[in-house]
Amino acid sequence: MGHPRVAAILRGAARHPTGTYLFVGSPGVGKRNAARIFAAALVCPQACGECNTCRRAMAGLHPDVTILQPEGYTFPVEVLRATAQAASQSPIEASHRVFIIQEADRIPERSQNALLKALEEPNRSVVWILLAHGVQPFLPTILSRCQIVDFPPIAEEGMLALLQTRYDLGIDEARRLVRISRGDLNAAVRLAADPGTSVIREKALEVATGRELSVLDVLNAADVVKGYATAARDQLENKQAEELSRLEEISGKQGQGVWKKKLADRNKRTLRRVETEVLIDFLSWLGAAFRDLAAASAGADPASLIAYDHADRLTEAAPDRQTRFWVDMIEHCLNAQLALGNNANASLVVESLLLRLA
Ligand SMILES: [Zn+2]
Repeated sequence: MGHPRVAAILRGAARHPTGTYLFVGSPGVGKRNAARIFAAALVCPQACGECNTCRRAMAGLHPDVTILQPEGYTFPVEVLRATAQAASQSPIEASHRVFIIQEADRIPERSQNALLKALEEPNRSVVWILLAHGVQPFLPTILSRCQIVDFPPIAEEGMLALLQTRYDLGIDEARRLVRISRGDLNAAVRLAADPGTSVIREKALEVATGRELSVLDVLNAADVVKGYATAARDQLENKQAEELSRLEEISGKQGQGVWKKKLADRNKRTLRRVETEVLIDFLSWLGAAFRDLAAASAGADPASLIAYDHADRLTEAAPDRQTRFWVDMIEHCLNAQLALGNNANASLVVESLLLRLA
C-alpha cells in the first residue's frame, strides 16, 4: 500500500530523526508497516530493508526496537513507566533506540503523563513512533512534542483491489466486505482472512435479531462467543510456536538469547489481549446490528443498512421493540466496550449486556 508522500517524509526523517513521530490515520491504512520499515531504516546503517538487522527490526526482535501494544484494551501505567525507564538507556547495537506504540490513542489520559515524561527526556538517540486513529485523545503537551505524519485514507478502489488480489475474491464479495466493515480495511481483511470473524459477526446479528429470547438463550449465546475467544487464543498460541521454530531456522545460533526473550515477552502480551479483542470485535458487530435495527425501526430503506446482506432479518425484527430501545442498546454496547477498556471482567461485561435482550 503506497503512500508516496508519507514515504518521502519518512525517508528524510530516517536521515535526521527528531524525537517523536505520531502516525495518524484510519485502521488499515498501513501505519504499522510504515513504522516497522521506518524503525529498520533507523537501526540499519544502510537502511537496506533486507539484512538481518532490518529483518529483526521489522519483526520487533531487534534489541533496539521495542513495539508496544495494548494489554487487554489499554496500556497499564507500569508498562509505560518501564518503557520510559528503558528509553533513558543507551542503544545496544544501533545508533538509535526506537519505541513504537501501537494504538497509542488507547492510552488513558491519566497515564499519558508517564509517557510525556519519557518524551521530554532530551535523548537524541531515542525515537518514538506513536500510532493512532486520531489526535483527539492526546494531551496538548504530548501533541506539541510530536511530528504528526498523516496517513491519507485508502480509496475504496484500493481496498477492493487489495481484497481481490490477496484473498482471491470476486468483486461482489470484496464490495460486500468493505461495505459491512464500514470502510475499515482491517475489519474487511479480518473477515476475508479468518472465517471465525464471520462467525462472530453472524452470532452478533443472530442475538440482536433474536425474537423472544430467554435468559438461557442469551447465556448460551454468550458462552458461544466466549468459546470463540478461547479458540482464538489457542490458534494464536499455535501460530506463535510455528513462528518461533521458523525464526530459529533463519537466525542461526547468533544472539538467540536476546531475541528469544523479546519474542517470548511479546507473545505473552499478545496472548493476554487476544480474547478481549474477540469480545470487543463481537461488541462492535453487535453495535452495528443495533444501529441497523434502530434505523430500520425508524423506517430506513433496507438497502441503506450496514448489514444490508441481512436486511430481511433486520427489518423483520426491528418492529419488535421501540426505536428508543435499539438506540439505548447502541449506547450499552459502547459502554460495554469502554468497560472492557477499563479491564473489567470481559465475560461478565458481555453477559450483562446480552441479558438486556432477554
Ligand atoms: Zn538493513
